[in-house]
Amino acid sequence: MTPEDHAKPVTNPVATPVTTPLSAPVSVLGLGLMGTALAAAFLKAGHPTTVWNRTPSKTGPLTAQGATPAGTPAEAITAGPLTVVCLTTYDDVSELLRPHTTALTGRTLVNVTNGTPVQARKLASWAEEHGIAYVDGGIMAVPQMIATPAAYVLYSGDEQAYATHRAALAALGGTRWTGTDPGLAPLYDLSLLTGMYGMIAGVTQAYALIRSEGIAAREFAPLLSDWLTAMTSSLVPGTAEAVDTARHLTDVSSLAVNQAAFPGLLHTFADQGVRTELFEPMRTLLDRAIAEGHAADGLSRLVELLKA
Ligand code: NDP
Repeated sequence: MTPEDHAKPVTNPVATPVTTPLSAPVSVLGLGLMGTALAAAFLKAGHPTTVWNRTPSKTGPLTAQGATPAGTPAEAITAGPLTVVCLTTYDDVSELLRPHTTALTGRTLVNVTNGTPVQARKLASWAEEHGIAYVDGGIMAVPQMIATPAAYVLYSGDEQAYATHRAALAALGGTRWTGTDPGLAPLYDLSLLTGMYGMIAGVTQAYALIRSEGIAAREFAPLLSDWLTAMTSSLVPGTAEAVDTARHLTDVSSLAVNQAAFPGLLHTFADQGVRTELFEPMRTLLDRAIAEGHAADGLSRLVELLKA
């Protein structure tokens, strides 16, 4: 782990993967779309890889690539010092692993299953009780991106275990350490996904609106793409600066102006036969911002207003 990795853990999320081929053995539990991609990446990087899946037939393609199929989870876990688990949910992970604590004791478990900070902390406590070094992981990629420079994985939890196995984990893509609180990797992961879903909501509504006049989404796509790129390049860092310094007064675009303009959007959706449910909550929030006296502030103020 480099000093930069400690000092600025996630400020440059698309890290250059470490490509040093190592021969440390790795075990992968769960060979769905993602688990299969992870195991293939370990194999490609030269790691002896043992694989297990609930439905055994899924080990076939990986065995053909050189993986060793295990008959049981315990057999896979005891094949080496590092087990990566990638199932559908944390409940599935708990259900699978709880009978195998003896096998896991003294080894490292990296759980890249999608979950919440609370779930990660709970699983980490269980692991600690049983002498299992637990690292939580958040994969910021789809299976096809694994092992490419575009992929990275967020990690948190047992720092020493992470440092020990980082070179092997780098076979999957960039490695981003977020901190010793095991809940941090899922927190970063879900915060990034939150931004993504917000964008999906906007793109979805924009296509519904433009298509209401028979304009092809394909025709509109370049305009939308350029617009979103231009907006995010200023909005993302600008909002961060404002919220971190608590300076919300703006000379760019006030909440008053946005609140006044927003009903026009909703009326247009209705006039064009497009449902409004995705955007109604934004109007509610803008109205509250004005009612609470923030008319002159910029959109960054909304971050404060979302505190429960
Ligand atoms: P899949 O549905 O393709 O695979 C799910 C895997 O979990 C299968 O191997 C399945 O086994 C196994 N599984 C589910 N329940 C159990 C259980 N109770 N006991 C044992 N094994 C179980 O999902 P993905 O591979 O796409 O996703 C896996 C995880 O990775 C998810 O948490 C997902 O959110 C996360 N992820 C996925 C991404 C993606 O783009 N696909 C991106 C980032 C994260 P079986 O084959 O027997 O059904």
